[in-house]
Amino acid sequence: MAGIWGTGRDGASSIVMSGGYEDDIDEGDVIVYTGHGGNDPNTRRQVANQDLTQGNLALAKSCDDGLPLRVTRGFRLDSPYAPENGYRYDGLYTVERYWSQVGRSGFKIWRYRLALEPGEPAPPRRDGAAAAAAGTLGPASRAETTVQRIVRNSAVAEQVKDMYDHCCQICGCRIQTRAGAYSEGSHIRPLGRPHDGDDVVGNVLCLCPNHHVQLDLGGLTIDPSSLVITGNGIPSGRTLTVLPGHVIDRAQLAYHASLFQ
Ligand SMILES: [Zn+2]
Repeated sequence: MAGIWGTGRDGASSIVMSGGYEDDIDEGDVIVYTGHGGNDPNTRRQVANQDLTQGNLALAKSCDDGLPLRVTRGFRLDSPYAPENGYRYDGLYTVERYWSQVGRSGFKIWRYRLALEPGEPAPPRRDGAAAAAAGTLGPASRAETTVQRIVRNSAVAEQVKDMYDHCCQICGCRIQTRAGAYSEGSHIRPLGRPHDGDDVVGNVLCLCPNHHVQLDLGGLTIDPSSLVITGNGIPSGRTLTVLPGHVIDRAQLAYHASLFQ
């Protein structure tokens, strides 16, 4: 009954959560969903690595394109938000981010952070407690853009952007709008669970929108020691521009690279 409905070309239109995956996290309005494959349905344990193909690729496409999908929870799901019986449609969620990591049983899994779309009712808890009080994953603040990227504008991000006068640390471009220069503060290690990156200067880069997306979606990595950038469209040997006074936390670059292996 579990499933991801969709294709790598069009994205995923729906998923069913029915409790087959030991690495899933469900906090109602935020879900960390495990991709498909390599799972023993009897023990629920991972017994092999997962690939970014089929349904897993469809979810990645949904994230890249900002496409919402329908979430249904089944009664076998090990979660306070599972229905008592049967299956319940729980509304539209957005795939905010995807990455790979080694799961509980030691195999590579693909994971997806899903957030309930604004305006959708929160799913009811089995114990009847208020759903709003339960979540600790916390929804990310959203800004409407053409690709629905999540843009966080913290004081720390502003500080880093000012430091570089809005010049991208990867390509050097500086976008000028009628309102001044525009750049984006990009967290190397993502904020919020399960990554728990810090909103500190050492974890933030000043990037143009293209390179922000490429970094967030795993299209480029930055070598923690040499700072050489590897990714589509990046000239060979290009290193990250780092100004004196901007001490980048190299461990966070290693963490980021580990998310997309
Ligand atoms: Zn750039």
